[in-house]
Amino acid sequence: MQRTVKLRVKVSYETYKKLKEVEEEYTEILGDAIEYGLWNNTTSFTKIKAGIYKAERERHKGLPSHYIYTACEDASERLDSFEKMKKRGRAYTDKPTIRRVTVHLDDHVWKFSLDKITIVTKHGRVSLSPLFPKIFWRYYNSGWSVASEARFKLLKGNVIELYIVFKKDEPKPYTPQGYIPVDLNENAISLLVHGKPVLLETMTKKTTLGYEYRRRKITTGKSTKDRETRRKLRKLRERDKKVDVRRKLARLVVMEAFESRSVIILEDLPKRAPEHMVKDVRDSQLRLRIYRSAFSSMKNAIIEKAREFGVPVILVNPAYTSSTCPVHGCNVLYPPNGSTALRVGRCEKGGELWHRDVVALYNLLKRAGHVSPVPLGSKEPHDPPTVKLGRWLRAKPLHSIMNEDKMIEMRV
Ligand SMILES: [Zn+2]
Repeated sequence: MQRTVKLRVKVSYETYKKLKEVEEEYTEILGDAIEYGLWNNTTSFTKIKAGIYKAERERHKGLPSHYIYTACEDASERLDSFEKMKKRGRAYTDKPTIRRVTVHLDDHVWKFSLDKITIVTKHGRVSLSPLFPKIFWRYYNSGWSVASEARFKLLKGNVIELYIVFKKDEPKPYTPQGYIPVDLNENAISLLVHGKPVLLETMTKKTTLGYEYRRRKITTGKSTKDRETRRKLRKLRERDKKVDVRRKLARLVVMEAFESRSVIILEDLPKRAPEHMVKDVRDSQLRLRIYRSAFSSMKNAIIEKAREFGVPVILVNPAYTSSTCPVHGCNVLYPPNGSTALRVGRCEKGGELWHRDVVALYNLLKRAGHVSPVPLGSKEPHDPPTVKLGRWLRAKPLHSIMNEDKMIEMRV
């Protein structure tokens, strides 16, 4: 597990010049290394290094040799991810282009300490004294350690941007004592907490559509290159807000599983939106955006958080999870599009009512090889308690939110 923290440091012109020189030569080596990899049809670091080291050593006299190593590593990573993009049909050029360069450092060319960071250049070491941001201390003081590799980039105005990498061992997954199935949807996620269904509102689709409406209002009749338009678009901060909701939700679900020593069961959703998802949105770009933020990115956020806490995750086949009755195994029929109670269906055989998101939960449990009693006869399967977006955002443990809900119900 690793996390990267950015630090910005203002340096003297002298220091900046020395680092600029490193950056320029590093970029040249990186270019050669990529070229070599392409010509020789390899992405292997060892092969690239073996192929170009001697010539580069000649060409860049005085540059610490480890920059050649790290540039070769950098090239190997870039070639690797280019290959992957090409396989997925998402590479738009026939060879990787070097657009942004960050100089990669290993433990021979940089040293970290809290009072100064030194980097080796052609003219000896330069030292930087950064002010560490809060996020840095959060990792530094909570069991993460500073990795031996780092990167830097030059910004305008004699500013160096440093990328410090923190590493931490992944905790060992525990032996599970229960299951928490989680079903993702465009406006909510649902899960079983202590066997009881609950819906947490996310409003992802609504939010995305709202942003889209505001974005259109800003850009109609204006160029998106216009400074004022760009500033207004930036101010929307759609991504930041969605990432925030996602992180908090993932944390809530994972902490619940962690405390009850449960496995999380998720649908194994594809990266691209399947045809039947979010189908009432016509614009395909927009549909994909909603799908990504409500389904695939949400799924990834939960998986990543789970990994951090050693919570096991089971991925199951998502086909028909919301249209099959978990009790009778037959179809659950939903009212046709346009109906007000769109998400509540009736079992073909038993005639009982089901909320779409709750049906999916019991089916996820079944697919993970666990059968739990369905609370038939109560209203939970078709009318599960729903927690509004603002409520769960206040980062309380999930079961305490649910208990609170019970209190309110009892009082009424
Ligand atoms: Zn049924």
